[in-house]
Amino acid sequence: VKANGRSGLRLCHAELKRGYLARQTLAADLEHALRREELGLAFQPILALETLETRGFEALLRWHHPERGAISPAEFIPIAEETRLILPIGRWVIDEACRVAAEWPEEIGIAVNLSARQFADPLLLPGITTSLRRHGVAAGRLTLEITESALIRDDGAARAMLDEMRALGMRTALDDFGTGYASLSYLTRFPFDVIKIDQSFVRGSGPRSNDATIIETICDLARRLDLVIVAEGVETEEQLAMLRAAGCDKGQGYLFDRPLGEAASAARLAAERLK
Ligand code: C2E
Ligand code: CA
Ligand code: CA
Ligand code: CA
Repeated sequence: VKANGRSGLRLCHAELKRGYLARQTLAADLEHALRREELGLAFQPILALETLETRGFEALLRWHHPERGAISPAEFIPIAEETRLILPIGRWVIDEACRVAAEWPEEIGIAVNLSARQFADPLLLPGITTSLRRHGVAAGRLTLEITESALIRDDGAARAMLDEMRALGMRTALDDFGTGYASLSYLTRFPFDVIKIDQSFVRGSGPRSNDATIIETICDLARRLDLVIVAEGVETEEQLAMLRAAGCDKGQGYLFDRPLGEAASAARLAAERLK
């Protein structure tokens, strides 16, 4: 900074300001996105690894920005969290996911992502219950995916929320397992039904690699704790073989299918039934 003198500092400042303004603009646009019907859901199949049958779908949020085109949820979910827009957006996601799931056969599940702020919202469960009822979807079909960040604030409150979800018949999943600091301890401290192994482990998991060993260990532990294991980001036949050998129950990833539109998800299920 010193070598560049004042101009270097000023450049830095200008860049920060540009980034800040870009975020402000995006936040303002996001406020209208719901009303302007720019948000949509994509549905990625989750398969039983043994039989390769579709068991459910994960709902993934998409934003079709009028000028910028598709914006990744990794970019706009943090903004939605900060601005609390995640609350109305999250309610819409759950209702839309239930509406689409109502069209599928009853044994097909639907998984929805919840952010930390949603998870702390006292109106979350009444909202979910209303959506399930409105669309006639059984609570047992719904899995709520949360990451460790939602558990950090208050042990007691987080456990009570997870207990309540399960008492209502919904399933709870610990998402991005293995990427946080305390993953292992969270498994015994909180009531989860499912763990989702993060794709970073699946990606690096060639035969006899360290990541393959980690996955085997996670699957072992999950079986002892009576948890269902889902692997994310399955892209190759080698990864599938490794996951099967480790005893992983389910998987999702580009090897099977990308996140699909509403019509394509129904078509996939129909085609499977004709086989
Ligand atoms: P996630 O929950 O870990 O979702 C999995 C991500 O991996 C998705 O990215 C999915 O499209 C991508 N993926 C699936 N299969 C593969 C694969 O084989 N290889 C690779 N490289 N990637 C794969 P996406 O849709 O961009 O979502 C990113 C994140 O945004 C999600 O990560 C989730 O944390 C968040 N998100 C998405 N929808 C929602 C939502 O409705 N609410 C909240 N709160 N967060 C959401
Ligand atoms: Ca997820
Ligand atoms: Ca994940
Ligand atoms: Ca992830």
